[in-house]
Amino acid sequence: MALLSIVLPAYNEEQNIENTSRVLTGILEDNGIDYELVFISDGSRDDTFARIQAEAEKNPRIRGAEFSRNFGKEAGIFAGLEIAAGDAVIVMDCDLQHPPQVIPEMWEKWKNGAEIVEGIKSSRGRESIGYKLSAGLFYRIMSRLIKMDMKSSSDFKLLDRKVVDVLLELPERNTFFRALSFWTGFRTETVHYEVQERQFGKSRWSFWSLMKYAVFNATSFSTLPLQLVTVMGVISILFSLVLAVQTLVKFLMGNAVEGFTTVILLILIIGGFLMLSLGIIGHYIARIYEEVKGRPKYIISRVTENVQGNVAGVWHRKV
Ligand code: UDP
Ligand code: MG
Repeated sequence: MALLSIVLPAYNEEQNIENTSRVLTGILEDNGIDYELVFISDGSRDDTFARIQAEAEKNPRIRGAEFSRNFGKEAGIFAGLEIAAGDAVIVMDCDLQHPPQVIPEMWEKWKNGAEIVEGIKSSRGRESIGYKLSAGLFYRIMSRLIKMDMKSSSDFKLLDRKVVDVLLELPERNTFFRALSFWTGFRTETVHYEVQERQFGKSRWSFWSLMKYAVFNATSFSTLPLQLVTVMGVISILFSLVLAVQTLVKFLMGNAVEGFTTVILLILIIGGFLMLSLGIIGHYIARIYEEVKGRPKYIISRVTENVQGNVAGVWHRKV
């Protein structure tokens, strides 16, 4: 019988672990799906890992690991994929904002041959205006640069074992799960779902963290900003041609002493373009530097006992 793994990254989610486990196991057992739950506590500072351990003791199908510090949701997802043993793996948030009711539908599509089943958001749950605006801007920039519809895509996906193995083979450290699974290009089907209200606790995305996420993911999927530097250079050259003609004409007419304003403006404009260009190039160099160092994506400090039995040494392997 095929095994379904569910990967749940969790950061300070002590209030959610027990409830989420109960809801998920209920749905999976009702539908007769052979399952395991893999919780990854992302360096939580509350009792998240203790709760995971408690669940693992009650139900051997529940397993989990704890990071040595907060490495971010992406790292959590990849650690979960590494530990998961299933023939298909579903990645979802552990705050039940991704409704578990659609899992049986994803499972059916997988059984009928889909290799990736994408969860598509039909609506975003109730969110504050500020969050809506920043998320809106974020998705617009991302969709442009990555050339895929980011607005309705999410991290809620089912991946076939083949896809999981491909993702685990990728050497890059700065991953963007949502777009990477799309990039692998396997046979994809979709299910639609309504984003639910968060069960307990609150979201940890601020305006700035979203913007940072946007910049990092955009630059890891696109070199367009680098070409922007060339565009700025061309604009400066065109502009300087116009000014050169004007300056020469003035010189020939014998009144070349004026033009102090022009000089100041030129210095400011060119200076601005130069620094912006250096910033963009610097950002890419920084990303190259991070990749070249080759540090692991995450460090696992503890695992539940049932993990040690099954996939001993997962954190010694290439991560
Ligand atoms: N998460 C994580 N590491 C982090 C931040 C978040 O593993 O550094 C997890 C979190 O526990 C949740 C999921 O990622 O399961 C989505 O986070 P959140 O609900 O805060 O984001 P939102 O739903 O608002 O996008
Ligand atoms: Mg959430």
